[in-house]
Order: sequence, then C-alpha cells, then structure tokens
Amino acid sequence: MSGRHRLLVPLFVLALAARASAQAAHHGLDPVNLDTTCAPCQDFYRYANGGWLARTALPPEYPSFGSFTELVERNNTTLRRIAERLAAAVPVTPKTADQKLGAFYASCIDSTAIERAGADPLKNELTRIDAIASREGLTRALARGHHHGWDPVFNFGGTADFKRSTMMIAAASQGGLGLPDRDYYVRDDSTARALRIAYLEYASRTLRLLGDAPAAADSETQRILALETALARASLTRVERRDPNANYHKMALAAADSLTPNLAWPTFLRDAGAPATNAINLAQPRFFRAVDSLMTAVPLADWRAYLRWHFTRHLAPWLSTPFVDASFQFQRALTGVKELQPRWKRCIQAANSMMGDALGQAYVKETFTPEARRRALAMVENLIAALDDRLHTLEWMGDSTRAQAVAKLRAFGTKIGYPDKWRDYTKLLVDLHDFAGNVVRAQTFATARDFDRIGKPVDKAEWRMTAPTVNASYSPSYNDITFPAGILQAPFFDPAADDAVNYGGMGAVIGHEMTHGFDDQGRQFDAQGNLRDWWTPDDAQRFKDRASRVATQFDAYTVVDSATHVNGRLTLGESIADLGGLKVAYAAFQHALAGKPRPPAIDGFTPEQRFFLAWAQIWRAKATPQYLRNQVVVDPHAPARWRGMGPLSNLKEFAEAWGCKTGDPMVRADSLRATIW
Ligand SMILES: [Zn+2]
Repeated sequence: MSGRHRLLVPLFVLALAARASAQAAHHGLDPVNLDTTCAPCQDFYRYANGGWLARTALPPEYPSFGSFTELVERNNTTLRRIAERLAAAVPVTPKTADQKLGAFYASCIDSTAIERAGADPLKNELTRIDAIASREGLTRALARGHHHGWDPVFNFGGTADFKRSTMMIAAASQGGLGLPDRDYYVRDDSTARALRIAYLEYASRTLRLLGDAPAAADSETQRILALETALARASLTRVERRDPNANYHKMALAAADSLTPNLAWPTFLRDAGAPATNAINLAQPRFFRAVDSLMTAVPLADWRAYLRWHFTRHLAPWLSTPFVDASFQFQRALTGVKELQPRWKRCIQAANSMMGDALGQAYVKETFTPEARRRALAMVENLIAALDDRLHTLEWMGDSTRAQAVAKLRAFGTKIGYPDKWRDYTKLLVDLHDFAGNVVRAQTFATARDFDRIGKPVDKAEWRMTAPTVNASYSPSYNDITFPAGILQAPFFDPAADDAVNYGGMGAVIGHEMTHGFDDQGRQFDAQGNLRDWWTPDDAQRFKDRASRVATQFDAYTVVDSATHVNGRLTLGESIADLGGLKVAYAAFQHALAGKPRPPAIDGFTPEQRFFLAWAQIWRAKATPQYLRNQVVVDPHAPARWRGMGPLSNLKEFAEAWGCKTGDPMVRADSLRATIW
C-alpha cells in the first residue's frame, strides 16, 4: 500500500488483530506463569514468565507468539463471528459498508471460486506489462502499479510535510525490494546467502506458474535479483533512515525531473492518478538517481520481468493454492513458520487491512464501551501529568529546552478506541464472486484516497491504525498518540485488575508512546509536528550522551547465538521509549497510590512488584531462530526478552522493589546506567 514512507512509530511490529468480548480467565497476573525457582534479580524475564515459557509451545502457524498474538487470537474469534454474520446477509448488490464487508469476506472464504480462477486475475495486467516497449512506457507502467497500490521500484503517496506539518505533500521514497531489507542483498554470510537462494526459488516457481519455461524463469529471476541488488546498494540503511533530515528533500517538480531525466514526474503523477502538484519530497535523492540510471542501463526485458514478478508476488497470497504455497514457502524460509494460517484467519487479516474501518466500526459496536474509553482516557491524563512533572524536575535539561519540551507534551493529541469519523466506502465496488478483483479494487480505492490528500491541509483527526489493531503508536508529524480499541484489554488493560497491573501494562504502553515524542527521532520535531531543532546545543549533547548508553546496552544483547547482536542504534527509539515509558508509568502509579490506604499484597507480591511483573508479562514470547535473526535486521524493536529486561536493569525503582543489589545481573552499574526521561 502507499504511504509507507511516512513516519509512524508502532509499539510492536504485527500486522493485524482485534479484541474479544470474553474476559481473560485471571485478572491481572496469574502465578502459574512465573518461575519462582529463579531469583528475580538474576533473570527477571524467566522469573516473571518461566511458567508460561515452559508450558507454551510455539503454534505452528506463528513464527513468534506472545501476549500480543494471544490477544490477536482471542480477537479473531470475535471478528470471525462479525464477518460471518455479515457474509450471511449479503444482498445481490452490496451497498452499505457492512454489506460490502460481508461480501468481501464471503468472496475470500469462497476457495472454490478462487481455485477455479487460477492465474486469470493477473492476465490483463501481465499483458500490459509484456507490451512495455519504451522508457516512457516503463514510466507509465510504474505509475499504473502505484495507481493500484503495489508500489513497484519505490514507495509513493501523500504525507505530512516534515517542515510544514499542516500540509500534505507528495512523497516518493526508496523501496522496490522483494527481500525484507537492503542488507540481505549485500551481505555475504550464510543467512543472507540462504535467503537469496530461497527468494530466487520463490520467484522462479511463481514465474513458472505464469507459464514460463523453467530455464527462462531461472534466468529472469537472476536478472530480477541483479536489478534489486542495484536498488539495494543505492538504498539507505535502516539506521541511516532514522535521521528525518536524511529523508527530507522536498523540491520543485522541475528539480525532481532534472534529478531523474528518464522519469518524468508530471507523467507519473497523472498516470498514477495523483493530483498535479508543483513540489515533491524525493526522500532519498541518491536512490532516485540510481533508479533513473537503471531505467536506461537495464534492458527493458529485465524491467518487464521485474514488474511481472512484483505484480504477481503482490497478489499471490490472495490467489489459488499454487501461488499461495509459493508465497508461503518463502515465508517459511524467512521466518521459520511451519504452517499456513487457516483461510478464515487470512480473510480476517485481509478485511482488516483493506476494509479496516468497515470491520472496525462493526467491531467497536460490539466490544468497545464508552466506559472503556473513559477509563483509558483517564489513564492517559495521569501519564501526561506524570511526564509533565518529570520534565519540570529533570536535572540535566536547561530551562529554554525544558519550556519547549513541556509545550510539546501539552500539545499532544490523544486518540483512543476508534476514529470519530469512519472511512466512507460508498465508491468501493465489492463483488461477492471475485476476491482477487476485490483486493485490487480495495487497494486502488485506498491509494486514490491517499493521493487525494496531496496538496490539502492535514486532517489531524485521521487515524492511521484500524480500531481492532492490537498495537499503539505515536506520530511525530501529527504529534499524537493512538491507542486502538484492540489493545485496550487484558493483559494490557483490565478494569477488574489492580492499579499495579494496569499501570505496569497499559500505563507503560501509554508512557512508551508519549516518550516517542522525545526519543532520538521524535525529539527533532516540535509541538506543531515540524522538523525543527528546538534544543540548545548543550542539552542536545546531554541527550545524545544519555541515549548512547541505551544504544551500548542493547548492542551487547544477542539472540540465537553469540554472534547475532541486537542493533542498539536501530532499536534506539524503541528502547528509549520503553525506558521512559516505564519510568513515567511508575511515577503515575505512585501518584495514584498516594493519599490512600496502601493496597495489600496479592499472591505475596507488593503493588510495586506487581507493577514490574505486569510489564514483563507483556513481553512473554516464543519465536523461531529464523524469526529472531530477521528481527534484529528489520525490526526497530529489540526482541521481547530484551524489551522485558533491558529497561528494568536501569531503574532504581526496580532494584528497590525486588531488593536487588549492586552486582546483580538485573542491576546495571551506576557508570553504565541510562536515565533520560
Ligand atoms: Zn514504540
């Protein structure tokens, strides 16, 4: 889909989800999840989660599984009931959002029709691609790919202008790769080599399904890999991309045209269906210069092969079994997942990603109460008050920076549960008997909506996550925090549980999102969401010194084997947010306890101990080695074990709650301890 270049910082990388009406069996913390044979100051992750880890097997249809996925699983049951009810009542011509959602889901479940269609849904587009006979034809084909939302070669869409956050502008950013990171094209270790081989097999197998002879398919895939490798070499690394200024190169359309003489932007915009505009952010100019030279250096036959492959690959998960299998085999090689998810779950996922507001509206009607929204909002207000207090008492920050930081916090927008205005699906055509067509139409519809925003004022009320999502986010340009209905339930948030558990769970999640406004990336944006340096040089330096400690701490963590490290710079923003989120949530929790009779211990644990147990249980997770190896390359979040433990070892509050001493593994030495917010 379009718009991937925009900055949005999710809590956790997971595509889909929702929520169940059923309550968790235990409110708060279940003692059977602990392993009390382990000392809490030695390995708190095992102490808090050892019981769960011992009895939980990784389900074969997941490459990683934990609190987030448990909630997704529970929510899937609710979403399935909703989707099946709507699917059973679809009229011949679906008109309302509910009817269209029902038809969309029904067409996805109809495996007989999907198998019968085979490769047919690809034919028209493949014929067009085969007919590309000139560089201009290539530009128009790229534009057409973007019109339909499969984003060949680069990403394109509307985004808030980093330096004028009230306006939406056109933006194009690096992309076009089939492997999940540019590093996999340029690295020469056994993991990267094996993934390239799996990718070649995947592409070749898919091209043979289109009728290509095996030798021809193998040759095409080699040339596709060569083209993608050239794109990868011209791409910034994920760490380089954490610098917003490295991704901001707004220029007049004429300047963009002279940067890429072979790619005429006015033609591209027109054919993609984007409005005429006189400025564009070519986010990474070096990448677009490379694209431009590849447009003439690479034979058109190779470009046609690249486009056939990417178009097919994009739709493959929604086509007949041979395409789905080829796609899944690659996922298997990449993530270690053992089994394909059952069709109904894939269909819920499709509905959430392509008709998310239709699904979300039906979902919150059934599951999300005004009371839940009110309680979540009250908690956000308590967290904002706690961070406000921290900002006022922070010893390392000078007064002028402090004043701007406080102003930024007070300008935060808060989105809870679901949007006030739902997306209008009136113009989306859904056909009960044509699932692939529905996918293409839904993605074209979403893209058109995205493009339509270019050149217009930013709609601050817009949501960028669907209501059933089990996640949360902060946006630097919008300067707002979002907590969808999907995450506002146990184990994160449970009205029936004690305060300790809710502050250690949802409270820390809220604090995490707020802290993103002040992490290595977020701190570069001001209260209005503009990329502008509001720091004195001294304060900026003090921030960087403190942040470096966090990066160094996470650099030392390994996964799978002693040679595979977490990347402290890639995960810096998330690790700062975890640390700050916990600190602020703990302060808010203490504030909530003040002036009241002290709550009794529960299951032998003090309120403070339960706060930290609640945090650790969010991060209980199992994952395959392949998943973890890929995670440290692509994911700005450290693996769950280190998210659970890393920040705690910096907190005096944790050491006090558990009686940990200097020298214990869960206590970092004063000379290494990181404290920022
Ligand atoms: Zn985050």
